[in-house]
Parts: sequence; structure tokens; C-alpha cells
Amino acid sequence: MPVRHPELLPAIAAGFAVALAHLRWIMLTQWTCKTCGTTHLHCECKPAWVRKLL
Ligand SMILES: [Zn+2]
Repeated sequence: MPVRHPELLPAIAAGFAVALAHLRWIMLTQWTCKTCGTTHLHCECKPAWVRKLL
């Protein structure tokens, strides 16, 4: 499928980035750690890959 509106691509990319940042924020503030019971924002025991990802 040819791209007919190349000018829309940055807008789509920006929207995707915003959605991803929002999802990341929800994960950090709403999800609680099963081990320590605090949100991932304050959790100190989450794995290193989660720490790097979030
Ligand atoms: Zn924890």
C-alpha cells in the first residue's frame, strides 16, 4: 500500500509516542509491585530490565 499522505507520518509517530508515554506512566503509577506492594514508581525490588524499560 503506497503512502499517500507522508505528512501524516510524523503526526502518527507523535501520537504513538504520546500513547506509549501515557501507558508507561499508568504502569508506573497505577500498577503495584507484588513483592513490596508499592507502585512501580516507588518500588525498589523490580527487576533491572523493568527499571531500564520504565
Ligand atoms: Zn517492589
